[in-house]
Amino acid sequence: PPAGEEVLKAQNVTKRFAGLVANNAVNMDVRAGEVHALIGPNGAGKSTFFNMISGVDDPTEGQVSLMGQTMQGKPSRAFAALGLGRTFQHVRLLGDRSVLDNVALGAHRRGHKGWVASMLRADRAEEAAVLSEAMRQIERCGLGAVAHTPAASLPLGQQRIVEIARALAGQPAVLLLDEPAAGLRHLEKQGLAKLLTQLRAEGLAILVVEHDMEFVMNLADRITVLEFGTVIAHGTPAQVQADPRVIAAYLGG
Ligand code: ADP
Ligand code: MG
Repeated sequence: PPAGEEVLKAQNVTKRFAGLVANNAVNMDVRAGEVHALIGPNGAGKSTFFNMISGVDDPTEGQVSLMGQTMQGKPSRAFAALGLGRTFQHVRLLGDRSVLDNVALGAHRRGHKGWVASMLRADRAEEAAVLSEAMRQIERCGLGAVAHTPAASLPLGQQRIVEIARALAGQPAVLLLDEPAAGLRHLEKQGLAKLLTQLRAEGLAILVVEHDMEFVMNLADRITVLEFGTVIAHGTPAQVQADPRVIAAYLGG
């Protein structure tokens, strides 16, 4: 999609669990060529929202649309097929397999034969295409030097980037990242921010769900702030940072 085009949109998305409103009429959209950050304290409802916009869970009320299509009741593979790529809050890699194997799994998701057939080398042409696509994403993410290294032996910062490469191998238009900076060292955060800046320039729509305020302040074009499931602020980093409700939420005031 062209820069500025709305790729993902949530309208009045509400999620109720027994006795608890985890998301309360949340509105937000993500556009091609931007980083939109969703931030908020622990328990604010970020992961709940993330699950609904990636098809893992259904809203109790409200609408999610992707590439202009209403996604109500559709499974997560339908979101992936329409161009949604994601990473998980906790790294999900096959630790004893190489970076290349892990990223190839992301490319198989878009393959015609399915990854099981390809892993069995039922179709050598498809296998070769998948590996070359995986390698392209590995290079794009600056992981060329560790392509053949077992994923588990990499530092956490690089494992997170492997997860991004794996998502990119599915050719997404929108990339959703759940707390990509959590647990990273300062230099790793800088490396991650640099990669996301590059992907944004390449036209991807990026939604970062983050607990780390400082990380998103330097990176995001727009920020939406959640507290107790409700949007309390939305705007540029400067606008959000100056908002008294945001300051109170973050300082516990
Ligand atoms: P965050 O990711 O911002 O830390 P979550 O979305 O994980 O917040 O949680 C928001 C609130 O919803 C929390 O109070 C959490 O305990 C609750 N919650 C999350 N998932 C469930 C669930 N499956 N069942 C009941 N409550 C849940
Ligand atoms: Mg969470």
